[in-house]
Amino acid sequence: MQVSGLVEGTLPFRYLGVPIKTTRLNANDYKPLIDKVINRIRGLGTRKLSYAGRGVEFRRSPLVSWDKVCRPKQEGGLGLKNDILWKKASVGKLVWWLATKPDHLWVRWVNHTYLRGQNWHSYSPNTASSWCWRKICQTRDIFSVAYQQQIWSIQNGQEYTVAKGYEWLRDKGQKVQWYGHIWNKWSIPKHSFISWIYQQGNMNTNAKLYNLGIKEDNTCYICGSGIEDLDHLFFDCRYSREVIILVGEWLRMDIPIVGLLAWRLARGGTRDDKGIINAVINACIYNIWQQRNNCRMNAYVIRPSSLARQLIVDLKSRFLYAKENGNRGNGGLVRVLLER
Ligand SMILES: [Zn+2]
Repeated sequence: MQVSGLVEGTLPFRYLGVPIKTTRLNANDYKPLIDKVINRIRGLGTRKLSYAGRGVEFRRSPLVSWDKVCRPKQEGGLGLKNDILWKKASVGKLVWWLATKPDHLWVRWVNHTYLRGQNWHSYSPNTASSWCWRKICQTRDIFSVAYQQQIWSIQNGQEYTVAKGYEWLRDKGQKVQWYGHIWNKWSIPKHSFISWIYQQGNMNTNAKLYNLGIKEDNTCYICGSGIEDLDHLFFDCRYSREVIILVGEWLRMDIPIVGLLAWRLARGGTRDDKGIINAVINACIYNIWQQRNNCRMNAYVIRPSSLARQLIVDLKSRFLYAKENGNRGNGGLVRVLLER
């Protein structure tokens, strides 16, 4: 301590208003933090979290469940980590140390304080043990099957990592067919994201809000003559048709407006060519959705020809970027499109 110049502190102390101590915190301890968060949300709520239009107010509900968001992209999610599972997997690291690293300083301390020569796999904590220690023992029980199956063992060179523990803990889903349509290097990330929401079928179109009883009118903002559901908005509205036809002229392809998604599934060509077509479709979905929102908020849309022109400029710069940052895609469709 003297050499390092550090000062010895004492527990408990406060961090963000919450006391840090060795025992489990109770609801009262968290109160200052919770109050702060609630005040912050209330401040936001009046400005950002409500739909103020047309005299109707309702709270935003998430478009996609958290569980779905946390799946890997290949399984239809956004690839975020589920924080609760990640925490368990992190504690799993301590379980692993206890099982495999007898010389580790912390393990030696645990052996001295709690285990006292007992086998870690069969040890059970007594009720007087600290909350933290009991949590570690509970986590060991969660992972016990993996240890029985020797999924991680030093002998096999299979060291435990938090990422591997997380993979083991989570429910694995089916791979989705449309993964590559949305997530590919040719697509602009914000386009991929809106296309991903579209793929969930959960966009807040007028038809959906009308069916939920939130809106009194389900007609399309842009053309005013159709029911604004996903099929109408992206593939049937005369505005969208015009944009897609113009983009098709750039591709020199007849993009079928009805059945566009089946067309993208069935298309042949190299992997890059397919990626480019998918990037174009993602761009159409993003831009049409943006114009629809523009129409809702500001009561105007930009002309289909201007939108198509802007969309093509954006795509070209993305293609150029992707081409320069990858070792593929020097021939085929991308070269032709960049020159057009
Ligand atoms: Zn329309």
